[in-house]
Amino acid sequence: MNAPTPHSALAPVQASDLAALPLIEKWISFATVSRDSNLALLDWTEAYLNDLGIQCSRTYDDSGKKANLWATLPAHDGETKVGGIVLSGHTDVVPVDGQPWNTDPFQVTVIGDKMYGRGVTDMKSFGATALMMVPELLKRQLKRPVHLAFSYDEEVGCIGVRRMIADMVAQGFKPAGCIVGEPTGMQVVIAHKGKHAYKTTVHGFEAHSSLTPLGVNAVEIACEFVAKLKSMHRTLAANGPFDPIYDVPHTTVHTGVIAGGTALNIIPRECEVTWEIRHHHMNSPEDLFAQAKDFADSLVPAMQAVAPGTGITHELKSVLPGFATEADSEIAQLCFHCADVDPQSGAGKVSFGTEAALFHQAGVPTIVCGPGHIAQAHQPNEWVTLEQLAWCERFMRRLADQLCVN
Ligand SMILES: [Zn+2]
Repeated sequence: MNAPTPHSALAPVQASDLAALPLIEKWISFATVSRDSNLALLDWTEAYLNDLGIQCSRTYDDSGKKANLWATLPAHDGETKVGGIVLSGHTDVVPVDGQPWNTDPFQVTVIGDKMYGRGVTDMKSFGATALMMVPELLKRQLKRPVHLAFSYDEEVGCIGVRRMIADMVAQGFKPAGCIVGEPTGMQVVIAHKGKHAYKTTVHGFEAHSSLTPLGVNAVEIACEFVAKLKSMHRTLAANGPFDPIYDVPHTTVHTGVIAGGTALNIIPRECEVTWEIRHHHMNSPEDLFAQAKDFADSLVPAMQAVAPGTGITHELKSVLPGFATEADSEIAQLCFHCADVDPQSGAGKVSFGTEAALFHQAGVPTIVCGPGHIAQAHQPNEWVTLEQLAWCERFMRRLADQLCVN
């Protein structure tokens, strides 16, 4: 990915220069690991917005322990539904278990020009900076409404936001654009790849390991299947199609987990392979899956010749669509301006998935732009530079200039 620089240089930044610092500190202090409740963070945020006269609505998960928070800042003429933009971010963070942290991950620590804490990059700083701007947006009066969309369970497959978007559509909200503040180094990301995740299960036949001709070895057949996936990946990497704007310019096929077998002296009965296709717009995940399935099907007659009940099954575990927004669209142009980057060098496409695809799918033109870099996300000692945070604040201020009457 290109590393954009703003047209106008930013002065060296001290933590005390950051207006959003108290809000970032507050949000980081809630340990909202995806498996745990995010309601304490939401309660605090809702109280903050209520104090400013803004009402919020929630959509809960089935357990009632996690929720999305949606808040609308009305336009000066009272309009709440049509037009305007969504500032979107997830409230959950990945776990810190087993990671060697040098500081308390749930407390912001500033050392030199960096801020440390779980979620400072991915992605509480963007949401907190948006909250910091609310008083100013209200005071300067909005031409069109602005919506804040804070989700749960993004890190476990963009689960939570789906309910919020369904509710947004059901309530008749028709925003003209959405900015998802995932870490892009303040680059304006106009597309990302889609992801299809699968579980393939080889159903073999158990036998004593001294009697190999009588068994169907699920682990060995699974390995043949994994080798096929790898060869598909190699073909894509060698021959494309390529979209050079992506950091990884081709579609990828990857095996994440393989599990099977119980003991050395037993021919394994079952083996599971969890794998994914991450595709750009020039590849069809359905076609790639069909290639993999055809190969698996070709292995089955030999398996069934040994034991009739054997076979290979596939399960589509999750789908995250890709998205692509035109660089000359209104939302992209707005973001190039606010980020103060060149539309040529500042436009990016990334290989990681985000909630942007789901807003895009719901008909809302969306871009991804936020402080920090994905390389620091999910890491021990997750950090973001103060310069990136200042850049995000300046983005929000320039956005306010565009969105406000005064
Ligand atoms: Zn994230």
